Amino acid sequence: MWVGRLQRSWALRNGALLLLWLFVFKIGALVEYTHDASVWFPAAGLTFASLLLFRFSILPALLAGCVLSTIYTVHAYDISLGDFQILKAGLLFGLAHILPYAIGANVLRVLIKRRSLDMSVIIVLFLVIAAVSSFFATWLVLPTLVMTEMMSPDAVASTWLPFWIGDMAGVMVMAPFFVGLLNWVQPGAFPQLADLPGLDQQTFNARSLMKLLLNALLLVSCMLLAKVTHSPNSAFAIFFLVIPHMWIACSESAFLNVSSVALSSFLIAFWVHVLGLMDYVMVYQFAINVIAANTLFGLAIPSLLADNLKLRKVAFTDSLTQAASRDLLVQRSAQEITYSRQDAKPLAMIVFDIDYFKKINDKFGHQVGDQALQQIAQLAQSLLRPTDLLGRYGGDEFVLLLPHTELGAARLIAERIIERVRQVTIAESHQLTASFGVAGLQADDDFERLFRRADHALYQAKLAGRNRVCVAEVEHQQALA
Ligand code: GH3
Ligand code: MG
Repeated sequence: MWVGRLQRSWALRNGALLLLWLFVFKIGALVEYTHDASVWFPAAGLTFASLLLFRFSILPALLAGCVLSTIYTVHAYDISLGDFQILKAGLLFGLAHILPYAIGANVLRVLIKRRSLDMSVIIVLFLVIAAVSSFFATWLVLPTLVMTEMMSPDAVASTWLPFWIGDMAGVMVMAPFFVGLLNWVQPGAFPQLADLPGLDQQTFNARSLMKLLLNALLLVSCMLLAKVTHSPNSAFAIFFLVIPHMWIACSESAFLNVSSVALSSFLIAFWVHVLGLMDYVMVYQFAINVIAANTLFGLAIPSLLADNLKLRKVAFTDSLTQAASRDLLVQRSAQEITYSRQDAKPLAMIVFDIDYFKKINDKFGHQVGDQALQQIAQLAQSLLRPTDLLGRYGGDEFVLLLPHTELGAARLIAERIIERVRQVTIAESHQLTASFGVAGLQADDDFERLFRRADHALYQAKLAGRNRVCVAEVEHQQALA
């Protein structure tokens, strides 16, 4: 219900975003470096994400947020400025803060929409834009603060780096999370991002919560270690967080992935504040930025896996009959031959070919020929065990790989198939037949040798009048039907 209202009302959306922005601004104060700079400034991430999704319609909320946060800062740090000067300082801060992110978000949107970019390219673009736009934000905001007497000129040299790192962390680490969150309110705003697998999947189950908890435990342990040992070196233990984050990236939805990075960065800020680890805060900030950049590539993993699966299916399946392709057949045969030899188990191969198939094509047309091939493949497939493999070797020739099967049993299978083939009529009147060659695995066989013997048996079946099964014996072939 609330989501519906936010979707419909521009004013409500701006109001809600203003509240969220002020809340996030206040949380950023947990790791204040000076009163002008937090080394983790999540408000920058919210600015970037909201401009990316809502474009300029969200400007009132962002400007109001900047003015209100300026009023708060002036009062919190007892800066002596008149009301008009505060308003001017707030508005100028707003412009300096918003402009670089508006440009950055716009460039990113245009690049994503204009070209159909791969997810990993989108992530690289986002990381570069986050670094560059936060750099420009730093060098627009700091002079503005000096100009409006919110900051002394001497402080610029020591403030610009933590300021930049804070804004960059805010964008890199938090913007993807805010995009996921805001995408819920505005699902149609950015179809390319909504296509991300799992971005709209915002419910956490027990398993994913468990992973977040483990991650949080590791984080606290690493930070306690730094506190207890008082050693800057031990602060670097925080880089171990890359392990749970990559685990989450590889196994959970996109939204959980970006949420886990956002949560870690919040917890780092929180524990730096509580444990008084401000001396090491730069290590923590660099760590979370590096981990976030790393983990963001995890967003590309599900789509890469899906593409990969599709490609494998295309490469390994014959598109007409859905039997295995010749490549898969050769690969699986080599594997099964090795296993059979290792386990001293039998293995058999059946090669079969439709009789006078050319005539069928000539008489009834290619389409009917295609249907005959599909029917034969389906029929053979329905008689197989899950461990058997049906492959299309080429044209109207099929191969059946039968692991753990004696020659005699393979012959019976071939006879069962031939019987069923005889019952198939195409074009209402024409009865199909096929010829079969069967061979069993012998001591020195590889795929080629085994196939050659089965194919030779098939040739014998054709010579003997077709519509029959021939079995390849060790040194000679014997007609069976
Ligand atoms: P035989 O009994 O000796 O096997 O005679 P045949 O006419 O079946 O001869 P052969 O097996 O050599 O013929 C294969 C024919 O299959 C040749 C080709 O025109 C046809 N063919 C190959 N691939 C396809 C296909 O994908 N669809 C159709 N409709 N025909 C195909
Ligand atoms: Mg044929």
